[in-house]
Amino acid sequence: MAGTDDEWEQFCTIAENHEKYADNPRDLPNVRANLVSHIPDSDYFDAMIENVITDYCIAKECSRQEAVEFIYSGGITIKTPYNSDIQAVLDRVYADDLNFTYDSEHNFPQSACAVLDYSGGVAAIIGGNNDNHSYNRSYRVPHKLGSSIKPLSAYAPALERKMINFSSLIPDEPLIFEDVDSSYEWPKNYDGIYDGNITITKALRKSKNAAAAQLVDRLTPMYCCDFLQDNFGFTTITNNDASYAAMALGALENGVYLHELAAAYAVFGNGGYYFEPHFYTEVLDSSGNTVLKNDVEMHQAMESDDAWIMNRLLYYNVNTADGIANAAAMENIEVIGKTGTAANDLNLDSGRIFVGAVPDYVTAVWMGFDDESSMEDIQYIPPTELWKNIVGQFPLEHDKFTPDDSVIEYEFCTSSGGLATDRCYESEIGYYTSDNMPTECHE
Ligand SMILES: [Zn+2]
Repeated sequence: MAGTDDEWEQFCTIAENHEKYADNPRDLPNVRANLVSHIPDSDYFDAMIENVITDYCIAKECSRQEAVEFIYSGGITIKTPYNSDIQAVLDRVYADDLNFTYDSEHNFPQSACAVLDYSGGVAAIIGGNNDNHSYNRSYRVPHKLGSSIKPLSAYAPALERKMINFSSLIPDEPLIFEDVDSSYEWPKNYDGIYDGNITITKALRKSKNAAAAQLVDRLTPMYCCDFLQDNFGFTTITNNDASYAAMALGALENGVYLHELAAAYAVFGNGGYYFEPHFYTEVLDSSGNTVLKNDVEMHQAMESDDAWIMNRLLYYNVNTADGIANAAAMENIEVIGKTGTAANDLNLDSGRIFVGAVPDYVTAVWMGFDDESSMEDIQYIPPTELWKNIVGQFPLEHDKFTPDDSVIEYEFCTSSGGLATDRCYESEIGYYTSDNMPTECHE
């Protein structure tokens, strides 16, 4: 860790460099004002300086010691996507134990959080509650995703392959695996109930494990794993994760970092564009010359129309009565997102995730104990509610996501998933591309 606030100020200027892509994700950043401030000794500082040192070593082909000497030589400026207003919200919320528990005994799990803008800039992070920065659970610790992997590993690639549309039916039934001398059914749903044929939107908003496993089976675990690595940029996911348990239920070997999870979900609010998460953009020497520039990787991870359909699927998760994440809904701001519950080796509730997005920021929240012990008997405030408490305090500019104009809205029959007719009992609005439409309901 770095020295104190004052020591830091003596040798380095941190410039908040808020790059904006939100209005037009296809434009490169328009570097705005060089708002000078500095970052106190913090989890963000830890992450930023580590990235600068690592990249400096590679760019200059020098040792870590030489990189550190340069940085501490004095007078340099580091431009960052750090946002002191957002960080102040995280610091305030995480300093107050009452934001984490209903329990008067104050028995509650640890938590970490990462907030990204839509150009991959990490606006703020925090790595622990109780104002304890000795262990940076945001930047330094990958977390198991549970069901929050499903939109990325199963629904998004199946939609891109035109295997599914917004309301197509998927069997919420277990897969049957053959063992040496027997067969077994997998996976169980969290509520123990298999719903049979249900629409894609229903399967996602009720976070059905069996339906997700059916999609992974059709895509193959290897395809899903490649999609996570190539399209969504996860650095901790390896081919060892090309398994049913990892791709359908998020039981990953290493887990993922919160800022990488948020960067992946940003694709759904960003016209399908992926931006590599980053903690700095540029380092200048004392004469103002650029000595290090962060070449942020950017690519089209999904077609723009399919990204918008994913956006609406995740909107229903939050904004329907049976949506699993409806505790995160906000009155005047659109929220999309997905919950996840991790299991440890004993198959207990050992970690919780909520990754949610509003039109200005994507925020990923983790909760759990460092030793992955069970949270089953703990009275904690769930990540959806913590998320809403945090994001509800952000200064926000936009209240709605930008729709993709080529996506067509139709009412579909909630029973058959087909386009609704006046004979259908119940219908909802669905979102489709013209090459991937349901046929009319004939039930
Ligand atoms: Zn019908």
